[in-house]
Amino acid sequence: MKTIAQVAAELQGYDPQALSAAAVGEFLARLVEPVTEHEQAGVFDALDRILAQDLVSPISVPPHDNSAMDGYAFHGRQLEAGKALQLEVVGTALAGKAWQGTAGPGQCVKIMTGAIMPAGLDTVVPQEFTQPAGERRIRIAPDMLHPGDNRRLKGEDLREGEPALRRGERLTPAACGLVASLGIASVPVVRRLRVAYFSTGDEVLSLGEAPREGAIYDSNRYTVFGLLKRLGCDIIDLGVVRDDPERLEAAFNRAAGAADAIITSGGVSVGEADYTKAMMKKLGDVAFWKIAMRPGRPMAVGRIGPAALFGLPGNPVAVMVTFLAFVRPALLRMMGCSGTQPPLLKARSEEPIRKKAGRTEYQRGVVSTARDGSLQARTTGNQGSGVLSSMVQANGLIVLHHEQGNVAVGDQIDVMMFEGAM
Ligand code: AMP
Ligand code: MG
Repeated sequence: MKTIAQVAAELQGYDPQALSAAAVGEFLARLVEPVTEHEQAGVFDALDRILAQDLVSPISVPPHDNSAMDGYAFHGRQLEAGKALQLEVVGTALAGKAWQGTAGPGQCVKIMTGAIMPAGLDTVVPQEFTQPAGERRIRIAPDMLHPGDNRRLKGEDLREGEPALRRGERLTPAACGLVASLGIASVPVVRRLRVAYFSTGDEVLSLGEAPREGAIYDSNRYTVFGLLKRLGCDIIDLGVVRDDPERLEAAFNRAAGAADAIITSGGVSVGEADYTKAMMKKLGDVAFWKIAMRPGRPMAVGRIGPAALFGLPGNPVAVMVTFLAFVRPALLRMMGCSGTQPPLLKARSEEPIRKKAGRTEYQRGVVSTARDGSLQARTTGNQGSGVLSSMVQANGLIVLHHEQGNVAVGDQIDVMMFEGAM
């Protein structure tokens, strides 16, 4: 585990007072490390978990050459350009019940989808490409087929002895099906990441508390809960912690003792009079950053005890954006996941967007399909960093990169879709 100072020394031009979004990503990738413990999970429980070791295929899938169609199997070398072919039907091969005989030139075997190809035969003519040609005879019209057509080869899906899945892969529904197709009932997965969260701020009310002037209900606790849940983390919810040194210290210590990562919101901006920053500094190895981004400029990052610390800003949109841009990839890395960022898609801007070069902006976007089939995007109205409804209306973030300036109508812009990310 590296200290903040060690990571900072590795990075060229590290300036905590003006960090680019790219530098934040690089810093965090160097700071956090994957957890190493793993456990076995049955296929039904493995969904969305991270595979801890390469999964080597004990068998070939499919285990035999077999037919991709209902039809007739025969030797494909008999096909000649421009000529019809007549064949005698000498047997039937069913799925799960192979035909044991041999078929020679001029002969074929009626075969069902999935049935093992009879010995030596390499081509299947689909039923609908044939006409009857007398008792137990079929005719194939000219130029309908090539040798090898409609035959699935042994091992074309997976080959015995080769990795079917790589460690670090997230077990999607497709991957779970693949595991089962190998006859494997359970797989080694990385243990779930434990993440503790609390909100800070004296003005922040928990649900059930009576409203009072100047106070707001805590929303960050619920957005962060949802974001962590989607990642498959074990969540340790520490609620709202008052701006009081004793309570803050107790919350940080509890979190550090139980979690791999601690996420807080609020109390990290420059002018903060409260105790959150002071307590982070006292208990851990923590850097306080000003990031060249919008929304979400302030952020605290480091370690308290063995746990990674992500001190997010307080504004609800800033919390979600910094989570998606920085915390999520860092947590995925800690989870042992090899893919840590969703791909950025290209869309055409439906409107001009004002943007200052020299910072990364994440605007709430509505991405849709244009009439010509390409992607287009517009921003949701109010982009204020406290306007949570803008995150609800949006289906993705428009990512305006560090060097990028104003966007004109029709310009290509990058979008990070929420689907798959939250
Ligand atoms: P701070 O970073 O603590 O100065 O907070 C920035 C803004 O976010 C303030 O307007 C806070 O009231 C608001 N805020 C802080 N924490 C929360 C929370 N848990 N839920 C909703 N808003 C919050
Ligand atoms: Mg505050």
